[in-house]
Amino acid sequence: MTVDTPVPARGCRDAAVLKERGQREVFCGLTGIIWLHRKMQDAFFLVVGSRTCAHLLQSAAGVMIFAEPRFGTAILEEKDLAGLACANEELDREVERLLSRRPDIRQLFLVGSCPSEVIKLDLHRAAERLTRKYAPHVRVINFSGSGIETTFTEGEDACLAAMVPALPDTGERQLLMVGALPDVVEDQALSLLSEMGIAPVRCLPAARTDKTPGVGENTVVALTQPFLNETAAHLERRGARILSAPFPFGEEGTTAWLWAVAQEFGVDAETFTRVTEAPRARARKAIAAATETLGGKSVFFFPDSQLEIPLARFLTRECGMTAVEVGTPFINKRIVGPELDLLAEGPVISEGQDVDRQLDRCRAARPDLTVCGLGLANPLEAEGMATKWAIELVFTPVHFYEQAGDLAGLFARPLRRRALLSGLEGAA
Ligand code: SF4
Repeated sequence: MTVDTPVPARGCRDAAVLKERGQREVFCGLTGIIWLHRKMQDAFFLVVGSRTCAHLLQSAAGVMIFAEPRFGTAILEEKDLAGLACANEELDREVERLLSRRPDIRQLFLVGSCPSEVIKLDLHRAAERLTRKYAPHVRVINFSGSGIETTFTEGEDACLAAMVPALPDTGERQLLMVGALPDVVEDQALSLLSEMGIAPVRCLPAARTDKTPGVGENTVVALTQPFLNETAAHLERRGARILSAPFPFGEEGTTAWLWAVAQEFGVDAETFTRVTEAPRARARKAIAAATETLGGKSVFFFPDSQLEIPLARFLTRECGMTAVEVGTPFINKRIVGPELDLLAEGPVISEGQDVDRQLDRCRAARPDLTVCGLGLANPLEAEGMATKWAIELVFTPVHFYEQAGDLAGLFARPLRRRALLSGLEGAA
């Protein structure tokens, strides 16, 4: 067997892109810390920011009940912002306090924010200075999660990209799976790859510093998230090769992703079928349950997570939906090109945002389901439209076969709820 993914006569790779450069409504890159701190167990994320940044993290993470959370905010007070205090000295003191209290920390991320950027606090130099001081026990790395520079999934990209220059060199032929997946999902992927005989497989980010992967000319990279543009570029600079494939969302996306890896590592078709047959069937069955609700419905994506193009491919090809508009913050065809090939011509493909104009298009289209950020969801719901919060798609395990049904279910739920509400209103 080979995996033959039917490609539409005309896909969206060469479709005209509506480029928008207006006001945007997206969370900032600090949000990524919520899933990254869960993944990297000996890391700490120290946001150098304001009380607003601290509140964002606190509310995005929910009530922190851990005895020792793995992120915090070094708050820049007014005197720092006014240039009256030496922010570097205060930062060094904060770091010293933190590391003496928490010897378990092996990687410390200094995370830039809007305020640290406004006062031009050089966190790169601070990270170098602090690495010299605390090496080899602690490595200090900086990246920016500022809302001026990043949308919410770009925070993860910036974090992983910042880690790449410090990865050790290796000449080993290996697969590097890149993207922070929940442990259970990562284990499923590793198990499928291992059953096919693909080894060694390493992960970036690794759960612990002592498992940090190397990188070099014989490293083949399989991205698990479509928003890792900078990380991919940094890995290429280190000699790695990025596999071109759709992303592992849904049965079809997962199969195509695995098949690209399998071909690269010389797995024969019989082995591939033996390993994937049963989980593929389970995924198809699970998706079919949600497709009863999704089939024939239309969907409109506002630009948020950069998952929009792969998800539109999944919803249109596997769940029977029609995409009206697929908005995404950035389009890097080198990374999402295989997805655009599979997405049949038809929807408006838009890049960037001009929120008022996009709202007008959405209201005119009256889609059955709108995927958007929290700030837009409430007003649209009040206008009687069903919405899905884009941020849930990155907080929920949705990759690979065993999560394919849950992924479809995430989109089916608001439609069911809306149908229920209309039924109740009709009965009243
Ligand atoms: S980094 Fe900027 S956008 Fe993000 S919470 Fe802080 S101030 Fe707000």
